Amino acid sequence: MLAAVDINGSSVVLAGTDAKQTALSLKKTPHFCPQCGCPVVIKAGDVNIPHFAHETYSSCDSFSEHESPRHLAAKIDLFNWITRTHDAVMEARLPNGSQRPDILSGTIAVEYQCSTISASLFRERTKKYRVGGLNPFWIYGGPSIERKGRYVKLTPFQRLFLRYHAQLGFYFISYCPDLKFFTIYGRIIPVTISLCLAVRLDVKVEDMPFPPSAVFLTEFTYPLAPFFDEKRKWIDQSLNYSNARNHPFFRTVYESGRNPHLLSEEIGLPVRSGMAIRNHAAEWQFYIAYDRKNGSAKEAANIVRRRIQKGHLKETIMPLAPMMTPEQAAEDYVALLKEIKIKRGIDSQSRGGKIRREEEFCLLHEKRIIDRLIF
Ligand SMILES: [Zn+2]
Repeated sequence: MLAAVDINGSSVVLAGTDAKQTALSLKKTPHFCPQCGCPVVIKAGDVNIPHFAHETYSSCDSFSEHESPRHLAAKIDLFNWITRTHDAVMEARLPNGSQRPDILSGTIAVEYQCSTISASLFRERTKKYRVGGLNPFWIYGGPSIERKGRYVKLTPFQRLFLRYHAQLGFYFISYCPDLKFFTIYGRIIPVTISLCLAVRLDVKVEDMPFPPSAVFLTEFTYPLAPFFDEKRKWIDQSLNYSNARNHPFFRTVYESGRNPHLLSEEIGLPVRSGMAIRNHAAEWQFYIAYDRKNGSAKEAANIVRRRIQKGHLKETIMPLAPMMTPEQAAEDYVALLKEIKIKRGIDSQSRGGKIRREEEFCLLHEKRIIDRLIF
């Protein structure tokens, strides 16, 4: 941990350019854990980052005992970044005592998270902050996001950090203490189950305002064709490498007498809140087409929820974007179909014919579909 109290009860924080000097000069005087009141010692060697540690094994539930050097370094950087313009408390104690944010500034509770934690713990901590009137600001500190060509691949843990902003769409903020910059991925749109399109921006810590203003990226457009190309690949791979007979989507497609390669073009389109469903857009959009009676948005939302309950679809857990639900995705999709005036498309007769139809579809509808993704 980086904050302790001295014998007079004054707070001591080991951050800033003179942290090492401060640490060395204070080494002989007693300090105490702000959480449990037990004695702590200053660890300040040649290699490690100066920090406090409990003198003996303690049952103190302070999070700070197992912090990696990366976590300590980032916490110092973020504290210095915030305190340039705002008051902030390192490792603040909250009135309910149950949680300690890395840094608290006003109602913003900063959590820098390097190691993987479970979705339920992430959700629980987020909820506790909100209940306490605080706005949790999670910053990702784990390994870099994997890239594959023009796409990025987000793990379920990384998806927990996704937030939504009207201009930026889904976005993700990470900080690297080695390079001293934030990396923002914005306009994240799922293309397949694992691949997403995204726009990346690196911002040096000194150039980043606090709180970060989200609107960095102005000009923006994605082509629609890659969604068709990747859908084709995804279908091929799924049928080649997995047991498609047991896959609820492919099974339903075959049972309905249709061919997954030739499904009409409106099945599998990107929509703004599509990230909320952890399946290919073709899957849940096919279910909507297959199960619907009246074609209303409400009905589509119910269809998606029922398929989740049956285990045919999976919800993406995004505690920081609670408005983006599978129901919302279904409603966005129905609104899109209405706008492009397609009720029920026609399947193709051959794979060659399918590609020609996709090209025509792009010419006709690309602009409307992409414009609806992000305002
Ligand atoms: Zn303690």
